[in-house]
Amino acid sequence: MKISEINTVTKHLESYGIRPSVQRIAIMSYLLANRTHPTVDEIYSSLLPTMPTLSRTTVYNTVKYLVERGACLHIGIDEQSARYDGYPHAHSHFQCKECKKVFDLPAAPVALEQFEGLDAFEVHTVSLYFKGICPECITKQAEV
Ligand SMILES: [Zn+2]
Ligand SMILES: [Zn+2]
Repeated sequence: MKISEINTVTKHLESYGIRPSVQRIAIMSYLLANRTHPTVDEIYSSLLPTMPTLSRTTVYNTVKYLVERGACLHIGIDEQSARYDGYPHAHSHFQCKECKKVFDLPAAPVALEQFEGLDAFEVHTVSLYFKGICPECITKQAEV
């Protein structure tokens, strides 16, 4: 990792009140660079070659902590495995049933007033999950 990159990620973590450690910097930096909504396993296997002492448990605990501090989002779209997103701002997700990729969509233009029974509640976050087939897989299917 370049020094400038380490500095940027350190500042980023600090802005969420997170004390930067080598693992936290590496994992946060991975999440910022890879907007693919990786699983703990994906983060672990990508970082392992450069961080041989890293354990899967450390990755798991670190992302859990990043989520608690608001630096990262837990995405529950995939029943098989939790995914993580280093872009913790309101946006929606689409998962393709064929290639399993999770795509970012801009925040859904939903009017909360449209949801019956919600008036008495104070809404903090809205997660919208769409499932179906992505354009790439639609093209592939058409070619068969
Ligand atoms: Zn697809
Ligand atoms: Zn996302």
